[in-house]
Amino acid sequence: MLRITFLGTGGSLPTRNRNPSAVMVNREGELILFDCGEGTQQQMMRAKTGMMSLSSIFISHFHADHFLGIPGLIQTMSFLGRTEPLTIYGPEGTREFTEFFKILGYCNLKYEIRGVELKPDDIVEGEGYMVRALKTEHSIPSLGYALIENPRPGRFNREKAVGLGVPPGPLFAKLQRGNPVEVNGKIVKPEEVMGIPRPGRTIVYTGDTRPCEEVLEASRDADLLIHDGSFADEMADWAEESMHSTAGEVAALAKEAGVRKLVLTHISSRYTDDADPVLKDSKKVFENVIVAEDLMELEVPYRPD
Ligand SMILES: [Zn+2]
Ligand SMILES: [Zn+2]
Repeated sequence: MLRITFLGTGGSLPTRNRNPSAVMVNREGELILFDCGEGTQQQMMRAKTGMMSLSSIFISHFHADHFLGIPGLIQTMSFLGRTEPLTIYGPEGTREFTEFFKILGYCNLKYEIRGVELKPDDIVEGEGYMVRALKTEHSIPSLGYALIENPRPGRFNREKAVGLGVPPGPLFAKLQRGNPVEVNGKIVKPEEVMGIPRPGRTIVYTGDTRPCEEVLEASRDADLLIHDGSFADEMADWAEESMHSTAGEVAALAKEAGVRKLVLTHISSRYTDDADPVLKDSKKVFENVIVAEDLMELEVPYRPD
């Protein structure tokens, strides 16, 4: 399972229908949060994503709309009896901010929280995936992230295994796990009966940024790109000045990178009543695009073999 839940999709400040930035990834039951704007914990409750299985939070940058939800969330998890450690990753400053979150108010956290600062291209290894930090272009130190799953084993060739004398049953499973087996004094190696490894899925999350080279490169052939789409094209000047992106710019990047699906988020409050201009400007360039809405869920399928 690789499920994305958009907990907050508003840009810079909350509006009546959009919370500030937060994107939850549920990968095989492990919860990974990208940004944690104000009110994220209540959005988790509304979306029923759960919160106690949260293993890590990746913060793109320390503008208030991307991290103010952390103090409340970590205190709630302590109140609910969390004992598992939690790691907060982010750009420079993350360690200091994390220490501050831990002592904010008269809180007495019952579990360990550590802040880890990343630089572009740093890699965090998870179970079955890794997260790579990406250089982005915003007005303060910032990072984007690519979640890259490990390749999956190739397809198991049952007929070939049987032909080599392997009886169906536990020895099949052993081969599928990548171990050689012995039948009638003869060794059968996994590579004799397994196809070539198949790619896992890749998701890129940018946080706030101008369209940039590093994001383009990391998004090549990605299954999902979740990009700052603050503005429609009419606001191009302001997007440049405020170090955000327009729908058309991001659509062009997605097209060049060949991503399978694009989701625009961090939608400016000027589109509170109607985000259609953002969608229209991106559709002109790239067809498979969605403008995120709060509590929207998305499954990321494996690409066909
Ligand atoms: Zn922002
Ligand atoms: Zn920002």
